[in-house]
Parts: sequence; structure tokens; C-alpha cells
Amino acid sequence: LPIGSLLPPERKLAVQLGVSRNTIVRAFSELEAEGLIAGKMGSGRYVEALPPTPSLTRVDWRSQSTRSLLHPSPSHMEEILSITDKYPHTINFAHGDGGKYTLVQSRLTEYVEAAAKRSSSYFFTSVQGLPELRERLVEWMGIPQISSPDQICVTSGSQEGLYLIATLLARQGDCIVTEMPTYFGSLQLFQSLGMQIIPVPLDQDGMRVDLLEGILARSRPRFIYTVPTFHNPTGRTLTLARRRQLLAISEKYGIPIVEDDAYRHLHLEHEPPPSLKQLDQWGNVIYLNTFSKMLFPGLRIGWIAGSSPIIQYITRLRELTISTSTLSQFALAKYMRDGALRPHLDTVTRLYAEQARLMESQLRPLRSMGLDYEVPAGGFYFWISLPEGMKARQLMERCMEAGVSFTCGDMFLLREAEQPYIRLCFTHEGAERTLHGMSILTRVLYQQKED
Ligand code: PMP
Repeated sequence: LPIGSLLPPERKLAVQLGVSRNTIVRAFSELEAEGLIAGKMGSGRYVEALPPTPSLTRVDWRSQSTRSLLHPSPSHMEEILSITDKYPHTINFAHGDGGKYTLVQSRLTEYVEAAAKRSSSYFFTSVQGLPELRERLVEWMGIPQISSPDQICVTSGSQEGLYLIATLLARQGDCIVTEMPTYFGSLQLFQSLGMQIIPVPLDQDGMRVDLLEGILARSRPRFIYTVPTFHNPTGRTLTLARRRQLLAISEKYGIPIVEDDAYRHLHLEHEPPPSLKQLDQWGNVIYLNTFSKMLFPGLRIGWIAGSSPIIQYITRLRELTISTSTLSQFALAKYMRDGALRPHLDTVTRLYAEQARLMESQLRPLRSMGLDYEVPAGGFYFWISLPEGMKARQLMERCMEAGVSFTCGDMFLLREAEQPYIRLCFTHEGAERTLHGMSILTRVLYQQKED
């Protein structure tokens, strides 16, 4: 009705609309309260104003801004990455990286400086990644399945790579399969995107591939995410036989595998089995790797390797956020062209092996109080189960106060309940600080055991 029109009397309206008079009386009083109609003495009620159109209604944009994409998930990434900002002096067994020494040893800063002097590195390059870097990556991988730079997309770290792959393959509400425990950044990502996570346990030989077919009979996951080599956090490696089994299952049911190979080159003893991608006869593996662990996380460079059509789709998605830092890509391309990566890895893995031995020497006596762990053959971590009844979060808080940080096991698991595990990274700190940190951890462990 236009503004100013006279409304029919209550009784007439009730008959017209087929409702009781009381309903009309209540409706009139609500409309009056909102100022939409007004009564004039002796002459009935008139339309006073039009209801506001939805576009003019004030909304709380802040509460709506997270509605579209992000589902509730714990903010573990921020919790861990901000540790050194908040506690600059903490002895850091939490961060999964090679620490300051590795950066110095790599001589990477010389390459970044040189790249910064090249005017071309300030401009844009292909969204898919600097062509020269992609060529170097094909050489580096050295497998027949990845024979052309078209099969590579450079990303801002493998976390972004995983984000792109997950967005491409699955939607909100879809199921995905992953080892449990698994890398907390992947859990946070899948949960935030509203995906249903189907966990598969691990044993000493990596993912329990024998349980997969039973899972696939009940649900239809969009992909299987796995860290088959020096798994984060357990350090375990999927055996060759299980790799073959996993690939066969993926082909049988038509479910792609997302292989996250961040730790492949960080073996402390012998080389690990071939990657799933290298064994992939059917093109079902989308491969993900990063320079964050091999070299330096601040470069923010990772890559995805797969069949050309998949890489084209990924590049279309990648385009939405333009491209990876050109400066980092130029620096890295030159680093690889000079053949600097292999000797760097040889040096740091020798050092990491020493670091692992040192940390293990400090952990060993703690077995007598009920602490347990496996000695990793590669990667960065000790995954430790705590003495019965001991609370990991409480231990962490006490250790943080005493000057040592590490990561709590619950971050790598789905269940909310307290999980009696912690993860210690042995590569971030040098020998002296590792010994000091371990002595603090030992003291706090004994105190907590006595409480
Ligand atoms: N995957 C795994 C298994 C990791 O451990 C990490 C880093 N902790 C990442 C991916 C992410 O690494 P990036 O810095 O390349 O994003």
C-alpha cells in the first residue's frame, strides 16, 4: 500500500485474510510499534512509512565476513608461528625449520641480494612460476612422470599449494582421507574449508593402507592426503610395498592422492623409498613440495607437480592471487643453476643427524619415567608420548614459563581431548641451546611427574 493509504478496519481485514481479529490487533500493534502505521483519532489507521528494503538495513558486516569460507577451526598456525615474536628468547623446539645456522650455511642471502639488484626481479613473471625456476625443478625432481615445466606450478610455500589443490578437488561438506596424526596446517586447512576428515591410523610402516578399502566402502573421499616420507609429526616412512598398494587402491576407486613430500631430502641416514609420484603409472598423484625445509621458509616457495591439465586448473586458481614473490623465484633459480642446493643439503643433513643424536641422548634417560619415542630416520621431529596421566598442555605452559617451547600433540589430531603427545623439533636450535633446552624440559618433566 502507498504511504498515506487508509487500512481497512480490523474486523473486515480479519475476514478478508481469514484470520482471527486478535491476530489483526496484534499485527497492528507491532506495526505501530515499528512506526510503519499510525492511527488517527476517529478515522482509522494509515500507512505511515514503507518497511526498509533489505539493502538499506544495517547489517553487522564483521560477523558476516567469516560466513562464506571459513568454518571454525583451531588457530594453530598462528599460535606456533608467533612464538618467537611473543617470546624472542625461548629455546624453540616448536618451529619446524633449519634455524639460523642453516640460513648462514646456505649462503642464500647472497643470492637474494643479487636478485634484488636485478631490475627484472621486481617485475611480474608467469603466474605459473618463473620459467627458469620451473625448468630447474623438473631437473631436480628427475623423474619421467614430470618431464616438462608445464607440469609445475610454483606456489607461495606448500601450504598454499595444498590450499589450491584442496579448493580444486573438494568442496565444503566433502570427505577427504588423511593419516592421523598429521601435519596440523593440513588439518586446519581442511577444517576451515568445511571438509569432513576421515582419519587413517599409522603404524611403524606409515599409513595403514590395509584399512583404506574398508573406509572407501563406506564413504567417497575426494582425495587422499599423505605425508608418506618422514611424516610430520611421527617421522615414519611408508614402505615401498605399501606405496604400491596405495597407488593401486587410488587407481581402483579413482581417488587422487595428494603427496606432500616436504621432508624427502632431509634423510639422516639412507635415501627414502621413491616418491608416490615416481611410482605413479596412472597419473593419480598430485605432488607437493617446498623449499621451506630444505632451504629457508622465508622464501615462501613451494611447488605442485602433476599432469598438465591439473596444473593448468591450478594455475587458473593461482592467478586469483597473482603469483609467488618474483624476487624469491629469481634468487632460487640462480641458486639451483649454480648447483648450490645439493651440497647445502649434504652439509645440513649431516648436521641434523648430529642434532638428532644429541637430542636423543637427552631423551633416552627419560624413558625410565615412562616417556617413549622412536628415533626418526629423517625429517625434523621427535614425536614423544608422555608418561601416563601427564597433561601435554600443562607441561607446555610450564616449559614456556621456564624458557622452552615445543608443540603439543593435540594439534596433530582430531579429537579435542587432551592427547599425551608432544613434538620436539631438533633442527631449529644449535647444540648448546638444545642441551640447555633439554635440561629445562627434563627438570619440568620431573616436577610435573611429582605433582
Ligand atoms: N607440509 C608439511 C608436511 C609441513 O610440515 C609443512 C610445514 N611445517 C608444510 C607443508 C608447509 O610448508 P610451507 O612453509 O612450504 O608452506
